[in-house]
Amino acid sequence: MKNDARGKLPTNDENILTRRQMLKTVAAGAVAATVGAAFPATFASAVSRSAISESPITEGWANQAVTPRAAAFNPADVRLLDGPFRQAQELDGRYLLQLEPDRLLHNFRTNAGLTPKAPVYGGWESVEPWVNIRCHGHTLGHHLSACSLMFASTGDQRFKRRSDYIVMELRDCQDAGKSGIVCAFPDGEAPLHDIVDATRFVGVPWYTMHKIFAGLRDAYLYANNRMALDVLVKLSDWSIAHTQKLSDEQFQRMLDTEHGGMNEVLADVYALTHEPRFLTLAERFCHRALLDPLAQMRDTLDGLHSNTQIPKVIGFNRLYELTGQADYRTASRFFWRTVVDNRTFATGGNADREHFFPPADFFQHLGSAKTMETCCTHNMLRLTRMLFALDPTADYADYYERALYNSILASQDPDSGMMTYFQPTRPGYLKLYCTPTDSFWCCTGTGMENHAKYSDSIYFHEANILYVNLFIPSILAWREKGLTITQTTRFPEQDTTRLQLTCKKPVNLTLNVRHPSWCHAVTITVNGRHWATSRHPGKYVEVNRLWRAGDIIEVHLPMMLRTEPLPGHSDVVAILYGPIVLAGRLGRKGLMPGADIIVNERTYGDVLNDEVDVPRLFGDERKIVKQIKPSAGSALTFHTTGIGGTGEIGPPCDVSLMPYYRIAHERYNLYWKVVKPGSGAKSVMPHSLIAG
Ligand SMILES: [Zn+2]
Repeated sequence: MKNDARGKLPTNDENILTRRQMLKTVAAGAVAATVGAAFPATFASAVSRSAISESPITEGWANQAVTPRAAAFNPADVRLLDGPFRQAQELDGRYLLQLEPDRLLHNFRTNAGLTPKAPVYGGWESVEPWVNIRCHGHTLGHHLSACSLMFASTGDQRFKRRSDYIVMELRDCQDAGKSGIVCAFPDGEAPLHDIVDATRFVGVPWYTMHKIFAGLRDAYLYANNRMALDVLVKLSDWSIAHTQKLSDEQFQRMLDTEHGGMNEVLADVYALTHEPRFLTLAERFCHRALLDPLAQMRDTLDGLHSNTQIPKVIGFNRLYELTGQADYRTASRFFWRTVVDNRTFATGGNADREHFFPPADFFQHLGSAKTMETCCTHNMLRLTRMLFALDPTADYADYYERALYNSILASQDPDSGMMTYFQPTRPGYLKLYCTPTDSFWCCTGTGMENHAKYSDSIYFHEANILYVNLFIPSILAWREKGLTITQTTRFPEQDTTRLQLTCKKPVNLTLNVRHPSWCHAVTITVNGRHWATSRHPGKYVEVNRLWRAGDIIEVHLPMMLRTEPLPGHSDVVAILYGPIVLAGRLGRKGLMPGADIIVNERTYGDVLNDEVDVPRLFGDERKIVKQIKPSAGSALTFHTTGIGGTGEIGPPCDVSLMPYYRIAHERYNLYWKVVKPGSGAKSVMPHSLIAG
């Protein structure tokens, strides 16, 4: 989120640039018993009996001009099994239930003239330093989305009850307020009137409203709540009525301020209601200043606020599906391509201080404590899965996997369940997390959703094709086929996965097993017999046969160590094992327990700044990879041997490596300066920029 008031606020302050800069362990146990609980023998029949089979997600999208080739499964048809993703889901579920909806609803009730039932939360929801970004109420929207997704992903009725309760409260607020709007701004509807009237306004009112719109949509789609759609339609009609007087030019000027994915969610309202007035408004919410150059395949992203742009592009892609207009398609594909190919770090994250920088400047930005805002990766993944559905190719799935492990899974504190804002590339820095009830950053909100939706992109399907995109332990019930598939794996700790089929009668089907770009050769066996060895990374291996109950497919995906240069800098590299980015462990200098859980995201880079020695690696790429050895004791841990040094040529200062997604509460390094033989050792890593 960016507080872009277009010169109406002081802009000479760094806080404006990084504006949004502007736990204890939660009550244990309760959720674990049911979140993600899945029982192979009963799951398929449970799914067919559940309310999910009447879920509106399978209907209502009929007025699409373009039908994506592949479809995702309803998250209700996929259950996670034990592993790091399920653990993250459980932790997130506990946090969601720990939050009190009445506190999130406080300002909504006040604005509707109703008595609040509980005091308002802190952080972005109410507290002074953040009042001028007008993000009040964004958390309720994210929370509603997250609870609805969590219900779909787990079947746990507590999330359905939570989602239903919030929708009912919003309906009450809407009825009491009479105008149709529900919002939580401290000055009521004023910020929306002000931005529409182009009078002085503060903050990002449409950005915040988008979260509430999206929460209602998700309550309808994932928690089967019809009332949510009614409230959403009234909100959308309020938006039409209050923007109708704007000329196209005035509307475009309004869109110069961050407005989230308003075009996407209004397109969804159109798709759900078939009412053309919502499509008209969705298209009016398309920002030409971004759409036009992208449709001409021109990258004008330098200097733009990353997480302002990505949701707009998700909306372009959604509008392509609904209208078939080629410009939307060209724009969204081109945007994805240029961001992923030219503007992305090894972990899948992008940008510095929330803004895209020129691709030639990666090295200068490496020393920043504010690289890679987690929301940006959240939204890139949303865009990626939509593009995959239109054009199911493995490079989309490759990016998805990389960003899912190295950014999203990496964003959660495995102890408290709290979330990162930035994921700093600054050598020797660390992850800072939000507090449970006093922060409520944008990334707290998208973070609530992230861990509730892991099941939505493991599998996709066409009429007679099943895509296996991710190697995550899970059970899929493909109801139309009467088929259940159980994926068992300890990937990435192990380089194999196993899929077992259960079906009432034999079924003819192609399994498209992804051959990841990081793997030289994939070997597949069916019922113990060699089926195929693929030597085409970045493609799918087609396994086509008549499947019978009990059939077992085993996939072997050998993983190797490799280095990957920082874009434009062959002598600065990240170290990867398969899709997993390894981080160097640099200790806990200056770090007291709890010091990395903070309220104020604006202090990123201003705290815990102790100088930390970061080794350089001596040798060429081949030598470096050869001198990294597995460590005893824990899977996916390694150490360098005789190649790390901090002085001109040494002294030896080797380093332990572990997956970035596991690093928490300690300092780390992601990119290493490589000193090749004969190149001299004078150049320094950008952590020296910290002082500058
Ligand atoms: Zn964020």
